[in-house]
Formats: sequence, structure tokens, C-alpha cells
Amino acid sequence: MAPRETEVVAPVGGPLRGLLRVTAPVDLGTVDPRSTPGLPGETVTGERRKAWARAQVRLIGAELGRQQEMLYAEAKVADPDPGPVDGPGSLGGSTRSGGSGPARRVLLVLQAMDCGGKDGTIKRVAGAMDPLGLHIRSFGPPTPEELRHDFLWRIRRALPAAGYLGVFNRSHYEDVLVARVEALVPAATWRARYDEINAFERELTESGVTLIKVMLHISYAEQGERLLERLDDPRKYWKYNPADVAARARWDDYQAAYAEALGRCGTDAAPWFVVPADRKWYRDWAVAHLLRETFDTLDLKYPPAGFDPKRERERLRTGVVEARGTPEVNGR
Ligand code: AMP
Ligand code: MG
Repeated sequence: MAPRETEVVAPVGGPLRGLLRVTAPVDLGTVDPRSTPGLPGETVTGERRKAWARAQVRLIGAELGRQQEMLYAEAKVADPDPGPVDGPGSLGGSTRSGGSGPARRVLLVLQAMDCGGKDGTIKRVAGAMDPLGLHIRSFGPPTPEELRHDFLWRIRRALPAAGYLGVFNRSHYEDVLVARVEALVPAATWRARYDEINAFERELTESGVTLIKVMLHISYAEQGERLLERLDDPRKYWKYNPADVAARARWDDYQAAYAEALGRCGTDAAPWFVVPADRKWYRDWAVAHLLRETFDTLDLKYPPAGFDPKRERERLRTGVVEARGTPEVNGR
């Protein structure tokens, strides 16, 4: 009988931030997409693992919601009335009270091959949190306007504001993945981008963004099955893109491009994690834990009151407000 947990159970063998982290040189061939690193397998076995993991994701989601609320509260107290300069896309302007550092936010970057499960992960993991605190953006082929700018232009504009958890469904990494494999730009252009990405991400982390970059790693066989599923169900036709078959034919080139991107742009400040993703329930469980562990490093707390709660209680009780210098009775 699977334990019906009411608390979040930690991964076995240490935090997933350690177990799933990849560093150069990255060899994706060594990561089995069906594996389940860190999953407590002793007490939870077989089909029950799925139900157990799903229940855990809901519990973790509630915790993530609280963490994000603290992140938002911190930003709100530091800057109660953020003007447009502090909106999404801005890195400057906002500092925590007392100038103790830049306004913090968290950004989850999701990358995967087609059918890798980015949408599903967002639905399950972000869906377990309070939507008010989320900032979710998807990146498709650049628009004509976006093409007139540097590849990071649209990314900067999509950054979460202080206090938010941002989720990128694809990202600037497409510009060293599809752009490279499909030769959308000259080789010299995409080759220069690894350094540009590292400089950009350094700038992000220095301005208070905690980056967590996740590749959802599916197998060639699993992608084939998921594509077929889309053809089997008329309600899924909209998800099917005939162009995906062309990308599938270049599987090895994409895997090589992923390996190089992860190896060259995985840093201590902005690490890359590879999540085995053939099993959807493991994928969601792992991403939820990675987020939880990342929030833990921020050591967030609810901010103290910027007023005297005792005095405010008294004001509410008596209804006396000292507006415009003259005491008056509230609403009478
Ligand atoms: P989907 O995630 O299924 O909506 O598909 C989005 C498509 O946009 C994928 O085929 C990506 O490869 C493509 N895409 C995203 N970013 C870029 C980019 N910077 N350059 C070219 N294609 C891109
Ligand atoms: Mg697609």
C-alpha cells in the first residue's frame, strides 16, 4: 500500500539540484529518459508511484505558492508603487528596501524537443500554484518585428517583474538550437551566442533573477508515440505540426546542439538540469522539487510590518482616523 503522505517527501540520494545538474561536457546519451533519479522507490512501487507523485506535486505546489507569495511580499514592501520602469522587461530601477540588493524574482526556463512535455509541466506544476504570482511566456518563431532586433530583445521584454515566478516555454536557447540545426543564421552568428547568453544571464543574476534552466529529456521512441497520439485523436490535431516531423528527422543534430548549449551555458549562477521526461509524473515531480529547492536557497520570509499593528488595531476599533491633521470619525 502506497503511503498517503500529507507532507512533502524529500528525494532520496540528496537534492535534485545535485542529482539532475549537468556540467560540461554534457552527454545526453548517458541520461535514460525513462529513469527516475531521486524518486523514493523503496516504499512506493509500480503504478502507485504515479498516484503518489501526482499527490506530492499538489503538496509541493501549495508550498511553492507560499514561497512565491513571500517573494511578492518582499518586492511589494520594498517598492509599494512600482512604476512602469519596474514592469516586465526592466532590470534596473528596483531595489530592496535599504538598498540591500536588487529586487528578486525567479525564472524557470523550459526547453525540450517537440512533445517533450513543456506545456504539461506548466499545467501541472505552475497549475498547482496561485496564478496571480506567475508570469508565463511562450516563444515561437520570431515575428518580423522581433527579427529586426537582437535575439535577446524579445527575451528582455518578457522577463518577470520583481516578486514574480516567470516561466519561459522555450527561450533564448532556441537561438542556439533550432537556429543552429536549421541554419537560420550563419554559423558565426550562432557560435557567438553562447558567450552572449552567458553575459546576459550573468546580468540577470546580478540584477536579482534566480535562474533555473530545465531540459525535459524525452527519447526518440517516446516522441514518436506522442506524435502518433496527436494523429489518433481529432481533438489533438491542433497540437500536431507537420514541420515537427522534419525536426524529428534531425534528432541527433538537435541532441548535439542541446548538449553543447547545456555544456557551454551551465554555470553555478545559472545551472542547467536535465529531467528524464518519458514518464510524465516523474517529470512533474522532479521539476516541482527543483523549484522548491531553488526557492529554499532564497531563504524567503514574510516581511515585518512597516506600521505598528497594535496601534492599527486600536484605530480600527475606535474608527478614529487622523486624516489631514484633524481627527475625524471614519465614515460619519
Ligand atoms: P511550439 O512550442 O510547439 O508552440 O512551437 C514553437 C516553435 O517555434 C518551435 O518549432 C520552435 O522551434 C520555434 N521557435 C521558437 N523560438 C525560435 C527562434 N528563436 N527561432 C526560430 N524558431 C523558433
Ligand atoms: Mg510543437
